[in-house]
Amino acid sequence: MRRVAFIGLGRMGHGMAGRYLDAGFKVAVWNRSKAKASDLIARGAQWATSPEDAAIDADAVVTMVADDEASREVWLTKDGAAATMKAGTLAIECSTVSHAHALAMARELRSRGLIYIDCPVTGLPEAAAAGKLTLLVGADVPDLDKARPYLAPIGTTIRHFGAVGSGTVFKLINNLMGAVQIASLAEGLAIAEQSGLDMKLVAEALSTGAVASPQVIRHSRRMAARDFSGASFTAALRHKDAAYAVALAETLLPSVPVSRAAVEAYAKAEAYAPDDDEGKMIEIVSKPKRAT
Ligand code: NAP
Repeated sequence: MRRVAFIGLGRMGHGMAGRYLDAGFKVAVWNRSKAKASDLIARGAQWATSPEDAAIDADAVVTMVADDEASREVWLTKDGAAATMKAGTLAIECSTVSHAHALAMARELRSRGLIYIDCPVTGLPEAAAAGKLTLLVGADVPDLDKARPYLAPIGTTIRHFGAVGSGTVFKLINNLMGAVQIASLAEGLAIAEQSGLDMKLVAEALSTGAVASPQVIRHSRRMAARDFSGASFTAALRHKDAAYAVALAETLLPSVPVSRAAVEAYAKAEAYAPDDDEGKMIEIVSKPKRAT
């Protein structure tokens, strides 16, 4: 029986860990707050007292935590997973981390004889729970081949971009472009509202016209109706991803003004409502201009 340690049971990780149970793996789970593990434990997962404890017998350790800081915590602190992983064990980072962090982790874990691959994902929590994520992989081919049996339960599509770090490069580009689109959509809708347009018609026209990207389709009606229910991607996560993407961009390009503007817009959205749906951006930009 294949043994997986799954670390980080938030909106995404909870469903992903469940997929390994469904696929018949032996699963050890750890999360900073234990309550999120209770139904997984009831389904047969083994609760671990720390990432280190979870990793003891694992063939692969999979992490799905918030950001660089959380990733460092769960892999490298004194009770981090790397402390007990045996040489040759797979370390699969599904969290969206910065490119610099992914490379540093690869160096550090490889120096301990482990196989680190970056494997950020696209897809919402429903896709995570259904095993239908797209996996954006950075790994040498033999490492990816070794990882495939551990990727199969969580994703339907593997996009292999190249060596370690390259999956993260693509993920950051993807989410940066999403940030630009959603911030721009909020401004477009706010202009339409202040101009007195029929907002149902505007949302319908945006969702079916030339700018109808999946992000625009997903958010236009919800923003126009101020429907922020079922937050699946938060302002804090979007700001983090855009900021990581701009940090990478600035090592490569002289300037990225549009991307920087998106980071600033999402810094405001995070300050306003960090754990709410990213679409709340509309509430910030839709305040009417005061008459002078
Ligand atoms: P989430 O619901 O906020 O979960 C975050 C997870 O990270 C929780 O398990 C949390 O533990 C843990 N965590 C945070 N700080 C930590 C720390 N310092 N030490 C240890 N654990 C820590 O977020 P999510 O939506 O599942 O996202 C997880 C990752 O997937 C992020 O990198 C995100 O960018 C990426 N992602 C999300 C989506 C989406 O639609 N939501 C889609 C694709 C990719 P607690 O439960 O104890 O707080």
